[in-house]
Amino acid sequence: MQEVQAQDAIARPVEPDTQGFVPAPPPTAPMPQQKYKGARNGDESDILPFYAVKQYARMLKGHPKYGHLWNVHDPKWWAKKMAEAEEKLKKQQEEEAIGLRRFAFKNCEGVYYNSTKYYETVFEGEKKVPAMAQDTEDYRKTASELGYGENLDLMCLHHEVAHTVLAEANGKPYSPTLWAVANNQEGDVATLDEQYEEESIVLAFQKWYMTGEGDDKLRGLNLEKLGETFASVVKELRV
Ligand SMILES: [Zn+2]
Repeated sequence: MQEVQAQDAIARPVEPDTQGFVPAPPPTAPMPQQKYKGARNGDESDILPFYAVKQYARMLKGHPKYGHLWNVHDPKWWAKKMAEAEEKLKKQQEEEAIGLRRFAFKNCEGVYYNSTKYYETVFEGEKKVPAMAQDTEDYRKTASELGYGENLDLMCLHHEVAHTVLAEANGKPYSPTLWAVANNQEGDVATLDEQYEEESIVLAFQKWYMTGEGDDKLRGLNLEKLGETFASVVKELRV
């Protein structure tokens, strides 16, 4: 006990002596005492010294070597970036409030509403595949067989995510089945047989993931790596 305390005493940083502390002078001219206009939307702010930024931007603009960087310090550019960042934060907070999580796959996005257990795969152009667990006898039977017990929501989410994870692992841009569904089976989409085949592999993967039980359909797949990728997506969606 005493030893620990002695070590503590050595490791603890020295407390700064605030008594008689003199702040370092500003690098250039003394700062004006009045409040200055902030670069953020022109409001009063003591975070961003607008005049200093503006001056710096002007100086940089003419610089032979760093001139191209001038806009980084341009107040208008900065204000725009700040507004964008604030907008993004606001959106994130709103999404957080309704339990919305996102995962960016290579060519589609997985969106999960934690509060309602609703998941959708969103392709470019807002083409979507919605998914929600169905409380039916068939659904419950499948959930039980795959090792989900009575957790129908988890089975549903895993199923949709697995479609995309497996497709990407196979070098496909996205799941051909989900793409066909998003396109109402119209146009140049996978045949129904191909889609059934994909379904059965996805289900076999889910069973392996939940129970460790293998299946011939999974032969040739690097299950360990797939399992890791899959788990990381699910974790990101914070289910
Ligand atoms: Zn499916």
